[in-house]
Amino acid sequence: MENLLTKDIVEKYGFRFSKSLGQNFLIDNSVLMDIVNSANVTEEDTVIEIGPGVGTLTRELLKKAKKVYAIELDSDLIPILTEELKEFDNFELIHKDALKVNFNEIIGGEKNVKLVANLPYYVTTPIISRLLNGGYNFDSLTIMIQKEVGERIAAEPDTKEYGSLSILVQYYCDIEVIRKVSPGSFVPRPKVDSIVLRLDKLKNPRVDVKDKDLFFKIVRNSFNMRRKTLWNALKSLKLPKETMETAFSNAEIDPKRRGETLSLAEFGRLSDCILDLS
Ligand code: SAM
Repeated sequence: MENLLTKDIVEKYGFRFSKSLGQNFLIDNSVLMDIVNSANVTEEDTVIEIGPGVGTLTRELLKKAKKVYAIELDSDLIPILTEELKEFDNFELIHKDALKVNFNEIIGGEKNVKLVANLPYYVTTPIISRLLNGGYNFDSLTIMIQKEVGERIAAEPDTKEYGSLSILVQYYCDIEVIRKVSPGSFVPRPKVDSIVLRLDKLKNPRVDVKDKDLFFKIVRNSFNMRRKTLWNALKSLKLPKETMETAFSNAEIDPKRRGETLSLAEFGRLSDCILDLS
């Protein structure tokens, strides 16, 4: 069923969509409710929403959450959101770029924090990477993103979708695919299909590594040169040949393999063995 609110508000204020800000607003009620329900928001929860648009999703979140902080970059949307959501005293609008926000300044030491967003697709990967690497206290991230990016996030080793993004998200989270969404669920229609995922933060990262930065550096270097063997790709670490030979041997990983065949656990083993010898 179509959600008339989005179109009504857009029309009422004569709002002009900005392509460069990734503005595709949701108009499909079933998708809206699937996002809200899968995020499992209760009255104990603080919700952070990135990119509220004209506030269609925000309104549903406000009905359920203790507090909703919405971060919106577009100045034209600020007066619209302020007016349309004025009946909610648990709403706080933050006029900022989500790529520059220090989320700890918003949530402080609060518990039960959930992030929910229909993300602007042009910044999906940097936002996810900031949210996960920033060490923030989120319980879960329920996000609608481009379908291809969702497939990369959930990809298994030895597939063409598997890469640094898969490892980053799988290191920190369990991944639940909620549903696929077609372009007709938005105004204006995007050119690509979308997907809703819930990322549940793990209590401890999926693999226990001695040096997280080194682990991710090895992962990045391995995928930067996807077609090369690990041996060639990891020359960029500029470590002595003997160190690398011993590390591969101790980790029981064949250096002729390509990075895209390694599981998270294998990357973790290799990283720890390299660390032990450096
Ligand atoms: N939540 C609304 C919905 O579901 O209909 C709108 C989603 S729309 C895909 C993305 C929203 O993110 C837009 O409102 C856009 O202005 C906003 N946005 C784009 N870049 C942003 C950024 N860097 N920081 C915060 N908001 C941003």
